[in-house]
Amino acid sequence: MTIASVDRTIQLITTGETVGSTCSPDLATAPWEFDSGTPGYGPGSSMGDVIPTGSPRQGELPERYRTAFTEELRASIRAAKETLGDRVLVLGHFYQRDEVLQHADFVGDSFQLAQAARSHPEAEAIVFCGVHFMAETADLLSGPEQAVILPNLAAGCSMADMADIDSVTECWEQLEDLYGTEPDADGRVPVIPVTYMNSSAALKGFCGEHGGIVCTSSNAETVLEWAFERGQRVLFFPDQHLGRNTAKAMGVSLEQMPMWNPRKPLGGSTAEELDDARVILWHGFCSVHRRFTVDQIATARIEHPGVRVIVHPECPMPVVDAADEYGSTDYIRKAIAAAPAGSTFAIGTEINLVQRLAAQHPEHTIFCLDPVVCPCSTMYRIHSGYLAWVLEGLVGTAERPAEVINRITVSADVAGHALVALERMLAAKPPASVVEPVETPVVAAPGVSRADTVVSAEA
Ligand code: SF4
Repeated sequence: MTIASVDRTIQLITTGETVGSTCSPDLATAPWEFDSGTPGYGPGSSMGDVIPTGSPRQGELPERYRTAFTEELRASIRAAKETLGDRVLVLGHFYQRDEVLQHADFVGDSFQLAQAARSHPEAEAIVFCGVHFMAETADLLSGPEQAVILPNLAAGCSMADMADIDSVTECWEQLEDLYGTEPDADGRVPVIPVTYMNSSAALKGFCGEHGGIVCTSSNAETVLEWAFERGQRVLFFPDQHLGRNTAKAMGVSLEQMPMWNPRKPLGGSTAEELDDARVILWHGFCSVHRRFTVDQIATARIEHPGVRVIVHPECPMPVVDAADEYGSTDYIRKAIAAAPAGSTFAIGTEINLVQRLAAQHPEHTIFCLDPVVCPCSTMYRIHSGYLAWVLEGLVGTAERPAEVINRITVSADVAGHALVALERMLAAKPPASVVEPVETPVVAAPGVSRADTVVSAEA
């Protein structure tokens, strides 16, 4: 039996069964310990980020789920899924831990999973093992009678939380004071808002209402082209790095990309800088991808001559510039799958995905650029204890009627505008395909049973 609260790799490091270090000793602590304590994102890469006061909080998880062993939780989840059949759809993000992902019917990035939600109208409940903004998007794209469930309400996203509707509205008003709303001679309006998928439904709604659009890390360039055709400048939020890396690749100079810090007048830029801007970058970032450095790439090249370095576009610009390639999680997966056997990859993205790719591709050498094990702390909040809780809630018992726990609902006034922004994105580029699950065994670590290491979904 294994302790249910501790991630497999972290457990092996803390027990000395494998070498390595973690970014926080708290990673060996169960996520429910953070539900009732000081509000925060929990241990992991975004633990230092400030959680907004209005963020949803998870109530106490019933004791049975906190004290169960891994195998008990796994059996409970499987039994509940079997009872529910097609009535429930479990979606798992690439960055989730394997203990959760093995129960997913579909695995993918946030948009692929939202598409999976949309293409399964028979499911009465969609359990989204990801973070809050992803569950909101699934709710937007699924039917009104379908319930989207987030197993742990505290699973937010620190990057998404860096841009809230009040700050963006305030920014918009300042830009309107400077530039008004009238289009120029070419029909381009002064500013087009573009939000990354990693944002609240309220911001997607803001974009829909103000002539803007949503983008993903896969289609950011297509979306920026769309926006440049319609606007003199773009307001891009919340991720400065995706905006900067994408616009730079399109030939926009750094001088034409001033930053907007919501805590400063005019975002900390001068009116002249904003006049000349092509892209105004919101001061947001992903704490997971910000950990990658140029020095790590240099070390990887010394220690592994011929290594292919691929990083995610949420990484800082110097890291993207120093890498061989950059691209979305889907791009990284496909690049590894297409490479000749014997290739060596250093990957700059979330550790759970990198470890899974390494296990799925024993023909390659694959490692994370960051030698410290440090998962996305907001994804970490989803644990199989919470998954068992919400699934058994849907089943109900003789003593407890079936119930929908932790439903995520986007209000109708926001949903209408948000769908407009999403539809504009879909019209700008056809959607990517959804990833189907496959049984993929991974190499068992010493002292760990093979059953503990089976990943039952493509990543
Ligand atoms: S990896 Fe970064 S952007 Fe993705 S959910 Fe975690 S904090 Fe948010």
